[in-house]
Amino acid sequence: MISEDDLNNLPSDPSERKSISQYHPNQKDEIRRKYLIKGPCQPRGHDFPRRIIGNKARRFNPDWFDQYGNWLEYSLKAYKAFCLCCYLFRDQCGGQGGSDAFLTEGFSSWNKSERLATHVGHINSFHN
Ligand SMILES: [Zn+2]
Repeated sequence: MISEDDLNNLPSDPSERKSISQYHPNQKDEIRRKYLIKGPCQPRGHDFPRRIIGNKARRFNPDWFDQYGNWLEYSLKAYKAFCLCCYLFRDQCGGQGGSDAFLTEGFSSWNKSERLATHVGHINSFHN
């Protein structure tokens, strides 16, 4: 079990959270509730760094926060995008394995923004 203090200071950066499954079973729901109240980590004012993909400089587009406001997250530590819904509920969904970039290593293929739309689609219900 983690302390009440820790419960109120859960790490907000997606790359610094431990998996929900690592928390005590009696605290998982409480932790999910805290994260839902906080909402996804969306640092809007940030100057998102560019990354060369192919031969173009690409970067995270903060407009995506508006488009995918209820789940899309950006880590200022990892410079990658993550999904709050997958973080919180993936283990209740039968789990699609660890292959999804938005849950595990983070997504940074900024040239492939269609992957964001695909992400909403393929795990259906809880992203909407
Ligand atoms: Zn997701």
